Amino acid sequence: MQKQTKAIRIQAERSHNREHSVPLYLTSSFTFDDAEEGRAIFAEEKAGNIYSRYMNPNVDEFVAKMVMLENAEDGLAFSTGMAAIFASMAGLLKAGDHIVASNALFGSCIQILTKITSKWGIECTFVPGADIAAWEKAIQPNTKFFFCESPSNPGLELIDLPALAELKKGRDIVLAVDNCFATPILQTPLDLGADLVIHSATKYIDGQGRVLGGVICGKKVYLDEIRFFARHTGPSLSPFNAWILSKSLELLDLRLQKHSENAQALAEALDGHEALNAVKYPFLKSHPQYDLAKRQMKYGGGILTIDIKGGFEKVVAFSKALKIASISPNLGDSRTIMTHPASTTHAKIAPEDKISLGITEGLVRIAVGLESIEDLKADFLQALNAIK
Ligand SMILES: *Cc1c(COP(=O)(O)O)cnc(C)c1O
Repeated sequence: MQKQTKAIRIQAERSHNREHSVPLYLTSSFTFDDAEEGRAIFAEEKAGNIYSRYMNPNVDEFVAKMVMLENAEDGLAFSTGMAAIFASMAGLLKAGDHIVASNALFGSCIQILTKITSKWGIECTFVPGADIAAWEKAIQPNTKFFFCESPSNPGLELIDLPALAELKKGRDIVLAVDNCFATPILQTPLDLGADLVIHSATKYIDGQGRVLGGVICGKKVYLDEIRFFARHTGPSLSPFNAWILSKSLELLDLRLQKHSENAQALAEALDGHEALNAVKYPFLKSHPQYDLAKRQMKYGGGILTIDIKGGFEKVVAFSKALKIASISPNLGDSRTIMTHPASTTHAKIAPEDKISLGITEGLVRIAVGLESIEDLKADFLQALNAIK
């Protein structure tokens, strides 16, 4: 069966009501026929639901679909993307271990790796992610974890995932990839040699900006350790959010095709505009890693960036001139969103690091939605014409 069929047809068991759409199992715990059954289920001698902190039919259905889409052995859902990312580290690492991470990471990931994991004696070396030799140089005898995003938020930097997987071969290092921007529709990092793939399900997996969620898919040996951490510390996904996210996966393939088609068309329409220093999009020939993008990704994805001449003042004027696009820190929504990373999502990054990551005062991230592309092109062009 094709993945798209499974994304629609994988379904939690029907109840005696024989509902067509999956019901919402909004319950904290489950019941046992008698105390003996409770004992047997707790002892794992018999299958059965116990308590929604670590098992729930809606959550399990969502995870089963994600595991299928990412070609994974195992998976686990979380309350948010950040909970998933932190759990991957807290579950697998101990004091004295060392992480190597790409410096182009989501803002909160940088906070975790500089201010939180370090409290427990886990140090991190940041490297320019596209430079595989820099990863190799950063490896220490105690390096246990590689972490990166591809494409990165907001710089749209790509990591050569097979090359990174090759580098860690024969070493006791877990390669974890934040696949938030690409989704399993555009790339499946586990097939390229990663051990874990992590998502903020809040973004494209929900797709309509309604709920928060996170998920990790990957090798069972690692998921077992992460599951132990999560079961006892409780960063669980709510059944309601899982119900929404599982429904959303039915349309993920269709949505990502359309997001990518719209983003490609908008990038081409804005490229070269006189109010801009640059337009960046993985499937624009001018992207410095265009060949890698074409090799590694099925489509270019739904995100592009523009660098507006004249800095923050012009960005503000541009945001006021937009009539359709929302101004919000989210992405992956059916509604087009513009974000100014330097003052919002990436505001806490040191000024010198912002420069090296290309997060300039004029940089605007556009998460292209599913509106008519003609309307979007007209909206962005009139707003740019208004500030030139
Ligand atoms: C939003 C985002 C996260 C964090 O996810 P939450 O669901 O908001 O916790 C992590 N990584 C990337 C790339 C993101 O865009």
